[in-house]
Amino acid sequence: MSAEVRAAPPPGWPEWVDQDDFEVKDGRDPIGLETITTDRIVPLLVPGVLALSTRARYFSFHLFLLDEFARRRLGPTRENQSIFFRTREFEYSAAVLLCPRCGPTAAPVGAQSLRGIVRRGKAKGEIARGFSVDSDFGGYGLYYRSPLRDLGLVHQRDTVVGEETLPVDVLTGPRAKKIAAAFRRAIERTTYYRRYFLGEQPIPVAVLREVAEAACLCRLTESPEEARLVRGALFDDVEGLKPDDVLRRREAFALRLQLADAEPGVLTDEAAFRRSVWAALERHVDDGTRLSETVQRWAALYGKEYYQESLRILWGEVNWFGRERCPADGLAPHTFFAMMRDELGAGSLDIGGTELLVARDEPTNDVLHRVRATVGSWPLEELRALALDSGTCVAALVLLLSLYDRLRTVERLPVDSAWYEIALEGGGNQPGLAAFVAQLRHHLADEPAVGDTLVWLARRFIVAAHDRIASSKLPDFTFRFRLEAGRLRFYTKPGVDFGLADSRHPALATLGQDMGLWHDGADTAVITVKGRALVKAAFG
Ligand SMILES: [Zn+2]
Repeated sequence: MSAEVRAAPPPGWPEWVDQDDFEVKDGRDPIGLETITTDRIVPLLVPGVLALSTRARYFSFHLFLLDEFARRRLGPTRENQSIFFRTREFEYSAAVLLCPRCGPTAAPVGAQSLRGIVRRGKAKGEIARGFSVDSDFGGYGLYYRSPLRDLGLVHQRDTVVGEETLPVDVLTGPRAKKIAAAFRRAIERTTYYRRYFLGEQPIPVAVLREVAEAACLCRLTESPEEARLVRGALFDDVEGLKPDDVLRRREAFALRLQLADAEPGVLTDEAAFRRSVWAALERHVDDGTRLSETVQRWAALYGKEYYQESLRILWGEVNWFGRERCPADGLAPHTFFAMMRDELGAGSLDIGGTELLVARDEPTNDVLHRVRATVGSWPLEELRALALDSGTCVAALVLLLSLYDRLRTVERLPVDSAWYEIALEGGGNQPGLAAFVAQLRHHLADEPAVGDTLVWLARRFIVAAHDRIASSKLPDFTFRFRLEAGRLRFYTKPGVDFGLADSRHPALATLGQDMGLWHDGADTAVITVKGRALVKAAFG
């Protein structure tokens, strides 16, 4: 959402700026925490999987399209290849929406605009040709091209191979060709492949339904050889791929399957997975196994997310308080922080029926001990939900102190452990988990009162961080507040909310199910023989 400045300058708009030069924008990641997950941690934990590369059969389908493009000797230009992809994707997506099993709730590439087309096509008995998503190379370009490149299956155009600069994307070699051929075997006898694959005539609905029955996204496991090859593409050690990338991918899938034995919900519910990972950290931190290392890495990611959630609550409070209480010409920062200390530094939180009362002049270390006693073995995940629900500074502080307290679990781990591989990852504007904890320890050593800790957090990790980040985004105006001529001024736009960055949980869920690592049983998820084999390969 953006607004024209000329039409609606935000209240408190600084007078020194030429309003024509700026545009008010939401500005994502206003305190610089999501980027640590998105740009630093996730590429280490789940290399080669994007948030929206969610269906395993698209890996083989797109390799098949590249192979067909080459075999049919279509003019090797970027435009031709893009059109070829977007038309074939349109047809395949229409087929998926006609799948008797997936039905209209399926979400193939471009589904949003296709649903209406398919509905009208059903009434007419045929569907006119069209294009999938309006973007270069359609869904392939958006979601699958870079994963397929990272998996060593696709050379992108402009790559130099031998003497030649490639004019279009091509398969890298026999491994990719085998996967393409496996998809072709699934559809080669369909009328669509024999008579409608190229061309411009409308396609009968019955012809597309036949494609769905032969090769829908939901039926990869019905082509066992193709499914085996797709699993191999993600999990096999192959020359040319970084061994660590292959290991991390295997472990990401295997950890979910391993923890699903005790709690099947972890496969689809990320909150359950976060809770289960932290419980596993406490069980396995010291046992020196590969499982322990994987648990350490994922727990470090989620520890960082709990720290972020606590600051997110505080961010909301700072904005709300500033908008409510600051006059239009702002306040000196020390006045603002003194008001925050007085008015927000005390309160209570109901933790499972026990009221935890916090006073602003109480030593933070005392609160830390009372949090330990009150929270007990409550999962951090429950505390997170409770804190978000409450949304107060005291709730943010309780979540943060409880996280800090539980990090005693990893105190004995050496600095070259798997935990620190992830916990040391930070961003340009905010510390990572390990550095934040070190700063908090240093702060607590000065025996601060609760109100001092609140101000320390707000000043350093909310106000200074946001001012720095928004300044770096000029001329886009993303300030929710700004230090101007020594005064802190708040703006009523844009909105303030943000959330956890995607850490690939939904993608890993559908990819794992598509590849036959698990399936939905009568009332619970069932891990298959293939899934158990992957767990064994990852953790022994
Ligand atoms: Zn289907």
